[in-house]
Amino acid sequence: MGDPKAFLNNPRRLRERRAVPDRIRDWAEVYRERALLPIISGQAARCMDCGVPFCHDACPLGNLIPEWNTLVSAEDWRSASARLHATNNFPEFTGRLCPAPCESACVLAIDSEAVTIKNIELAIADRAWESGFEQPQPPERLSGRTVAVVGSGPAGLAAAQQLTRAGHTTTVYERADRIGGLLRYGIPDFRLEKHRLDRRIDQMRTEGTRFRTGIAVGSELRADELRSRYDALVLAVGATVCRELPVPGRELAGIHQAMEYLPQANRAVAGDGSPAISAEGRRVVIVGGGDTAADCLGTALRQQAAEVSQLDINPCPPERRAEGQPWPVHPKVYRVTTSHEEARELAGARDPRRFAATTVRFEGDGQGRVRAVRLAEAELGTRRPRPGTEQAIEAELVLLALGFAGPEPGSGLVEQLGLGLDGAGNFARDGGYATGVDGVFVAGDAGRGQSLIVWAIAEGRSAAAAVDRYLTGSTELLAPVSPADRPLTA
Ligand SMILES: Cc1cc2nc3c(=O)[nH]c(=O)nc-3n(C[C@H](O)[C@H](O)[C@H](O)COP(=O)(O)OP(=O)(O)OC[C@H]3O[C@@H](n4cnc5c(N)ncnc54)[C@H](O)[C@@H]3O)c2cc1C
Ligand code: SF4
Repeated sequence: MGDPKAFLNNPRRLRERRAVPDRIRDWAEVYRERALLPIISGQAARCMDCGVPFCHDACPLGNLIPEWNTLVSAEDWRSASARLHATNNFPEFTGRLCPAPCESACVLAIDSEAVTIKNIELAIADRAWESGFEQPQPPERLSGRTVAVVGSGPAGLAAAQQLTRAGHTTTVYERADRIGGLLRYGIPDFRLEKHRLDRRIDQMRTEGTRFRTGIAVGSELRADELRSRYDALVLAVGATVCRELPVPGRELAGIHQAMEYLPQANRAVAGDGSPAISAEGRRVVIVGGGDTAADCLGTALRQQAAEVSQLDINPCPPERRAEGQPWPVHPKVYRVTTSHEEARELAGARDPRRFAATTVRFEGDGQGRVRAVRLAEAELGTRRPRPGTEQAIEAELVLLALGFAGPEPGSGLVEQLGLGLDGAGNFARDGGYATGVDGVFVAGDAGRGQSLIVWAIAEGRSAAAAVDRYLTGSTELLAPVSPADRPLTA
């Protein structure tokens, strides 16, 4: 513990964001570069090292939070980096993108304000890269075993890095033209600048991981052939089937899935030309209430949409933990993302969200294009439209961000490998990440269903440990989660 009274004397302070009018004019990250450094040691000192670190348990990676808090409060950045990277392959991603269930479980949060764990993690991660602490770790000797990882999101990358470092010759197959999964083509640059991803991929290449892009396994390359070429296969193909909104008018032009819209916007930022779907000058309605919807909002604002509204079928959550969501669970509370902050500031403090709003139908302009969204208040519980509450919002662009149903049924992987599916349509696996097919393992959203980056990394690490044991009979790799583990929510 840095300072036994720091939690009493130092208030919680967060990273500063750039001013809204500046940041919506570009795609750079919304936070001020290096803004954490002057405050972070004092923030780390707020950790009470409370003896039973619930924060550590709430983190799927089992990050050693009190340990690195003490090291940061003493400004021992090298040791802090070593402790952080011992449990997390990619803290520069989680430090920016994780919803931080650890902070909900911080003992200080029982009756005060949690330690800014996520910001401390980020400060260590960025400092490690700047100071050269985060060096490639090629294996001392090769095992002579080969592994193919299919999919290059956080689960596939974490599995590949662990397996390469353990000495197995590992190749990542990705159907997109660039590596990164949703870190690349889902999450916009204003939340994760892509040079951070490229830097990590370069490190992995230096360690020995090989990457093959533009290959859809199951169609362009048969999965059973791939299995026969390698000693083991890890499927980390994500849960990419978008949920639909089957209401009248869905076929109208101008209505798109969020994952048709966001990848094009991200590609445009990467220099691949103008996006075919743009919000510029349009009135936009986003249907959905999660991270994907917030990313559509921030993207539409930067593309200079004329107006943006968001429809969330759930009632507005409370500002603070409600009864039934006691500490240390990660509660459902009213959150203002950076995108919502931007929309509110541009609209004179009006929140772009309408809560308890259900979409009844889409209306066309007579030329086959969407003109308006017809919505109604959703009844509590049934979510059915409350009679007499219908109204319309004009819209030339509608984005559906309703979540993801599971891995794609038509990819060929299931048939070619003979995989089973679980009750939710995800790839079935046992407690050791193994499918029923010899040498084939599943990690990340493809097995767990739509989840979070921190879970994907934890699953990638754990699946790598299972593969290592399968190939060599034992393993020293850490396995922080089992497929049956679930987040601490009420
Ligand atoms: C817009 C958006 C924003 C999000 N924001 C956050 C956030 O802020 N914080 C957070 O924690 N989580 C967030 N998430 C969720 C998070 O991104 C996912 O849980 C995580 O990326 C899952 O990792 P994964 O490796 O399992 O799969 P993915 O990241 O989906 O990667 C799967 C990869 O497999 C590839 N693939 C699929 N099929 C094949 C095939 N047949 N052959 C070869 N390659 C294939 C895909 O192209 C993709 O690159 C967000 C999700 C979205 C969509
Ligand atoms: S990865 Fe997420 S849950 Fe774990 S310590 Fe970092 S912010 Fe907290």
